[in-house]
Amino acid sequence: MSLAGRKINFAAGPAKLPEEVLLKMQEEQLNFNGLGVSVIEMSHRSKEFGVLLNETIALIRELMNVPDNYEILFMQGGGTGQFAAIPLNLKGNHEHADYIVTGAWSSKAAEEAQKYIKVKKVFQPSKPYVTVPDQEGWVHDEKAAYLYYCANETVHGIEFTPTAPESHNVPLVADVSSNFMARPFDFKDHGVVFGGAQKNLGAAGLTIVIVRKDLIGKQQGITPAVFSYQEMIANNSLYNTPPTGGIYTTNLVLKWIKAKGGLQAIYELNLKKSGLIYGIIDDSNGFYHCAVDKKYRSIMNVCFRIGGPKGNDKLEEEFLKGAVERNMISLKGHRSVGGIRASLYNAISLEETQVLATWMNEFAKIHNTN
Ligand code: PMP
Repeated sequence: MSLAGRKINFAAGPAKLPEEVLLKMQEEQLNFNGLGVSVIEMSHRSKEFGVLLNETIALIRELMNVPDNYEILFMQGGGTGQFAAIPLNLKGNHEHADYIVTGAWSSKAAEEAQKYIKVKKVFQPSKPYVTVPDQEGWVHDEKAAYLYYCANETVHGIEFTPTAPESHNVPLVADVSSNFMARPFDFKDHGVVFGGAQKNLGAAGLTIVIVRKDLIGKQQGITPAVFSYQEMIANNSLYNTPPTGGIYTTNLVLKWIKAKGGLQAIYELNLKKSGLIYGIIDDSNGFYHCAVDKKYRSIMNVCFRIGGPKGNDKLEEEFLKGAVERNMISLKGHRSVGGIRASLYNAISLEETQVLATWMNEFAKIHNTN
């Protein structure tokens, strides 16, 4: 495969994978490790796949510094599947769970959870989503089964930084789908940390779930076996056929992260990338407008409007068209918010971000009259 013709892909997920990973996949596609078959043609119960699976788990543990009292599971059903799996697995004898709703994804999670547990929102969410309201004002309950939050709201570009919310003495549940391994992660107070692999860690189809051991075995009777943490742990994620190709892809991405210097190095690069784009926004006299509270700006999904707070459709269209002409794709904001969204996941390089920055500066030079 030649890298010529590849686009600069700012998609929100599925998203860009490192070129090194794609090339390695190509190299191994017909013959993995001299076995004469590709990984996706191998039995998930073969010794060789077992080695790959355990190595992948060990790499997650090493890179994220996952404490020993947590299990790492490979599941399916995406982040959305976990919206149901979480209350199904964690309800125990509790009546309710507390939810922090800061955007579209935590809102969806709360809505799905209501089928399986009583949901209480710790504050009344107000739209448009632009911030995390002050924790002082939250109404919470130590009787809750757990306190749920979305670590990075992909649609709105809101990220919990620099720390997780106060746990209020109940296990925290974190959806890290869109900032998985974007920065070092502190497991303190966390019960479950989960996310799909398709943004920072590989291909769609694999959902990684990290569960604190003392929370296992509290599932409701109706919990489907494939969604049961207990069942999955008992079978080392091989209760049924796992997404073998997805696990393989993630294995290669994890090795790539390790070779880059691990999460601290990745984080520093992510700060540089997002800082470059936010810097242009902030220096544009309002021509580029990011509505998100500066404290909670995402380093993964940079969302902004062009031509003012509400955006100017014509300018935004022209910006996107010019971006395509400069080899950049998937910069359109989510349909529910409009505008521009640059997803700067781990695989996006500083050089690629600079191409975007150059276009933003050029575009502002022509159109910014502020
Ligand atoms: N949570 C977040 C933060 C997401 O960004 C997404 C998907 N974009 C989901 C959950 C849902 O994930 P999936 O599509 O894998 O179900």
